[in-house]
Amino acid sequence: MRAAILYGQENIVVEDRPDPGAPAPDEVQIRVRAVGLCGSDLKYFYSGGVSGGIKQPFALGHEAAGDIVAVGRDVAAFAPGDRVAVEPGKPCWKCPQCLQGDYNLCPNMYFMASRSRDGALRERLNWPANLVFPLPERLSYDEGALVEPLSVAFSSVRHAQVTLGTRALVLGAGPIGLAVAQFARLAGAVYVGVTDTEPLRLKLAQDLGAHETIDVAHLTGPDLPLAEGSIDVVIDTTGVDRAIAQAFPAIKPAGRLVLVGLNHELLPLSLLQIVYKQLTVQGVYRFKNTYPSVLHYLDEGQIKAGPLITHRFTLDEAEQALRMAACRSDAVKVMIEL
Ligand SMILES: [Zn+2]
Ligand SMILES: [Zn+2]
Repeated sequence: MRAAILYGQENIVVEDRPDPGAPAPDEVQIRVRAVGLCGSDLKYFYSGGVSGGIKQPFALGHEAAGDIVAVGRDVAAFAPGDRVAVEPGKPCWKCPQCLQGDYNLCPNMYFMASRSRDGALRERLNWPANLVFPLPERLSYDEGALVEPLSVAFSSVRHAQVTLGTRALVLGAGPIGLAVAQFARLAGAVYVGVTDTEPLRLKLAQDLGAHETIDVAHLTGPDLPLAEGSIDVVIDTTGVDRAIAQAFPAIKPAGRLVLVGLNHELLPLSLLQIVYKQLTVQGVYRFKNTYPSVLHYLDEGQIKAGPLITHRFTLDEAEQALRMAACRSDAVKVMIEL
């Protein structure tokens, strides 16, 4: 089979790899059809990743959908020919976090294309049947692959406790931010503001239902142009300390700050404000139990993944695809179709 293997910084090679063997009794074998490129793939490609560098060559990609081509002995729920979306994190199901239901926090997680372990940019992979989900007929493989970033957004909006009447501000209009804005509206928010620096992304946010977009490349003051204490919940998808600091004064007393974006920097947040305003600061790491719901909303057309896709490449063009994905002014979600 063909696979896109990362050998080192800016060194990705599309090459032949042995096919995986027969799936284990509880696994299915998937012929991968679409993979979305994500910030973590770019991080690996350009700078060796967020945790520990590139320890061994591995296939990038963790946002995947495809066709089942073989099923293990104990798998009754699927048959060859089924179209599926793939949940990319395989937890141990044995540790305290798994046992208490927080499997996204499993310290033994095998997450595709993290810690130098193989991801989805290969034609075939074996994966546990309980981590693949039927793709409704009217959804494309591309949409199926995007259930992963949509799951991060879904999980963020849940943690943010957005409900009827909530005023929400989303920092960053990348794929996650654009999906957060959609889920926040779906959850009942009466105001969804979205910030970014790129006109293309702000326009998309508007098209997808944001009530207001704020171009932070052209701010006149130190903070966002929002009344102090006018926002119930700020959801940050940027991981940029300055973006969070700019939005901070807008959070209401007893409001929430939900942090999804990742960075190694420390946050310059006012302890006085967090305590005096009795704010809740909530981190969100990946997701759990989201695939059936996200697939439902996509199938019903209540959430849209298609407009996030700006570019499509073949597996052989993996390097070109990664370079395109890094171009924030032109690209939002870049797909590789195999
Ligand atoms: Zn992702
Ligand atoms: Zn575990």
